Amino acid sequence: MGKVALVTGGSRGIGAAVARRLAADGFDVAITYAVAADRADAVVKEVEAAGRRALSLRAQAAEAAELVAAVERTVAVLGRLDVVVSNAGIAPYGPLEEVTLDEVDRTLAVHARASFVLAQAAARHLPAGGRIVMIGSSLAERVPYPGWTLYAMSKSALTGLTKGLARDLGPRGITANLVHPGSTDTEMNPADGPEADEERRFTALDRYCSPDDIAATVAHLAGEGGRHITGAAIAVDAGVTA
Ligand code: NAP
Repeated sequence: MGKVALVTGGSRGIGAAVARRLAADGFDVAITYAVAADRADAVVKEVEAAGRRALSLRAQAAEAAELVAAVERTVAVLGRLDVVVSNAGIAPYGPLEEVTLDEVDRTLAVHARASFVLAQAAARHLPAGGRIVMIGSSLAERVPYPGWTLYAMSKSALTGLTKGLARDLGPRGITANLVHPGSTDTEMNPADGPEADEERRFTALDRYCSPDDIAATVAHLAGEGGRHITGAAIAVDAGVTA
């Protein structure tokens, strides 16, 4: 039986690119989505067209039970779990004084709590050689512009989570790593959006990343080349943190 990956937020953007890339690399792939069932189904069809098995599952990242159920369903249907990618995310942005406590709680739930829950549930199934990849953000390392305090805080929690997981699961031969995308051309942050020129100016390479750029690094961590990388944070950000 081939290896199996689970990617949260796989219906579009970076998560969909990761799902396609892992399928091309030989993984069967389960993806989760929040609302876009039709788009998740389209990604499933692409994975199947690549000759792999695929599954889409609705799982709100803020709902721990739904995430655990997605892990269990993946194992039940696809037979095992080798790689888990915590990617689902939101982009709260705005003046500090307007951020509400509800937004704080929701953002921490979707980014930090969900990543913990997902990793904990996946760890029950991951074999030796298993891989956990968190999708963080360059804004966890450097915040070049105002309005992103809450987002940056929620993503920086993944640093401690990833390092802790590397220590907890290293004895079982499981790795945990963190990929920090910079400005990446998705619906969350289109390369022709109103903030795009300013964001581009903060990069060393004067360009946006594509979702495939992020997927390539996730695939490296998930593949043979990643077997001795653990507890690491890797920026794929066109040099915004350089
Ligand atoms: P995107 O295009 O907006 O896609 C977001 C994905 O996450 C979709 O699959 C969406 O599902 C899912 N999702 C959103 N809220 C969810 C929730 N509450 N529960 C479950 N799933 C949810 O975003 P993206 O740009 O690909 O971002 C992916 C990850 O990269 C995020 O963690 C983001 O913070 C991070 N990131 C992005 C950038 C960037 O510039 N784009 C930069 C740094 C980091 P539906 O389709 O069902 O809504």
